[in-house]
Amino acid sequence: MSISNLKNTSLLKTKSYINGQWLDADSGQTFDVIDPANGEVIASVADLGVGETHRAIQAAEKAMQPWKKLTAKERSNILRKWYDLIMLNQDDLAIIMTAEQGKVLAESKGEVGYGASFVEWFAEEAKRVYGDVIPSTTIDRRSIAIKQAIGVVAAVTPWNFPNAMITRKAAPALAVGCAIVLKPASETPLSALALAELADQAGIPAGLFNVVVGTNAVDIGKELTSNPLVKKFTFTGSTPIGKLLIQQCSNTVKRTSMELGGNAPVIVFADADLDKAVSGALIAKFRNAGQTCICANRIIVEDSIYDEFIEKFTAQVKQFTLGNGFDENTTIGPLITSKATKNIQALVNDAKEKGAKVLTGGNIDTLGDNFYQPTVIVNLNNEMRIAREEIFGPVATIFKFSTEQEAITMANDTEFGLASYIFTKDMSRVWRVSEAVEYGMVGVNEVAISSEIIPFGGIKESGQGREGSKYGLDDYLEIKYICLGDI
Ligand code: NAP
Repeated sequence: MSISNLKNTSLLKTKSYINGQWLDADSGQTFDVIDPANGEVIASVADLGVGETHRAIQAAEKAMQPWKKLTAKERSNILRKWYDLIMLNQDDLAIIMTAEQGKVLAESKGEVGYGASFVEWFAEEAKRVYGDVIPSTTIDRRSIAIKQAIGVVAAVTPWNFPNAMITRKAAPALAVGCAIVLKPASETPLSALALAELADQAGIPAGLFNVVVGTNAVDIGKELTSNPLVKKFTFTGSTPIGKLLIQQCSNTVKRTSMELGGNAPVIVFADADLDKAVSGALIAKFRNAGQTCICANRIIVEDSIYDEFIEKFTAQVKQFTLGNGFDENTTIGPLITSKATKNIQALVNDAKEKGAKVLTGGNIDTLGDNFYQPTVIVNLNNEMRIAREEIFGPVATIFKFSTEQEAITMANDTEFGLASYIFTKDMSRVWRVSEAVEYGMVGVNEVAISSEIIPFGGIKESGQGREGSKYGLDDYLEIKYICLGDI
């Protein structure tokens, strides 16, 4: 299986999609998209810049004027067609994703379904954007609050979820009447462009969903964050870039939402179902080869079950099969680049130098520079870089605690606050610990916490705003107060 197996070849686009047109770069430049599993060039894609981004924003502003005047139901009907087409092309979209991102094909297929679910959800949810009639304090007045589309939305998205991170922003924006200009990660532009092709086929009017692909992220980002026509900037990516972009948005006082990095703890109490905790921690750590923002970064285990947990966990890690995401036997694919594997090696080396012990793995694999061995490390402390930084790879770190309060303190000892997980059967403890951990999301005896119906997002330096759920519309709406007098 490879990208040559696409049934619908119209999905493989190499130009950007602006105002309903497929465009080359003004400069004529292109760049290569690389398959991380074997280094082969999948496609050469137009490398757009600031001028094209500027024009996309202008097109978006124009396109949203009639779009926002449609009823929510009319917009919903068009978005529903986009959802249907994404699902109809799920297999092909998954092939494109595995080719450019590397994740195991079944995970790619899962992500396409997950990504589509946001389009379906927000197409429905936008019909329920209610306002308020506020009880008046004077007899001759009535006070009303209505909600309206915020305006043109600019979005920048990462490579680790090349489909869902886009639909999670585009669907609510479009559903409430906004237009969007998206810059996807330059490692994974093909999934974004395939979504644009399906948006076109679904009849989403020109100018509403624009995809600008370019490697000059700095300058494209400056245009997206400084253009006064953009009223809302939404970003998913690393915390340092998120901080920079918030600063850039401040000059024009744009509304921002930020889905940034994480450092998720998995706390396993001695009263937990040990086998479920082991398999939960494995999934939380190793999905997408450890490259998710909600991946377990620190597994924190109560001392009385620590040895047994490690034994069971490590035995299962040794069962993983590294390989090309298209191979049926593969359970862990390559990392996105060799820079990523080198970063992880540096974290592992730092931990080893400070006394950590590697139980399995611990090296870049002989399969190639982009493959990192599934790894388990113990004898850790919070001074090591691996405990404080986002690992973003298939390396599990297992810590030990002896009291509930110690576990909470360890879990909270980070500037991040995205996802956290707890394994215990004690319901009182579930409440105590869930309320005490400083995270936007808590999975209790469950690690598959993401879906379109829940408010996904972080606190502290993991971000601001929520994506999915009924709250996911709020970031794309303004509240307007209307005072009716002389009644
Ligand atoms: P990244 O380096 O921050 O890049 C993310 C996006 O920002 C890419 O499109 C990148 O473009 C662009 N970018 C980089 N520098 C920029 C600049 N100066 N101005 C404007 N845009 C800029 O992050 P990543 O390595 O792709 O993604 C991994 C990170 O995303 C991790 O920290 C992960 O935790 C986080 N993440 C968070 C969530 C969440 O929901 N909280 C979900 C997924 C991922 P280029 O690709 O062209 O460089």
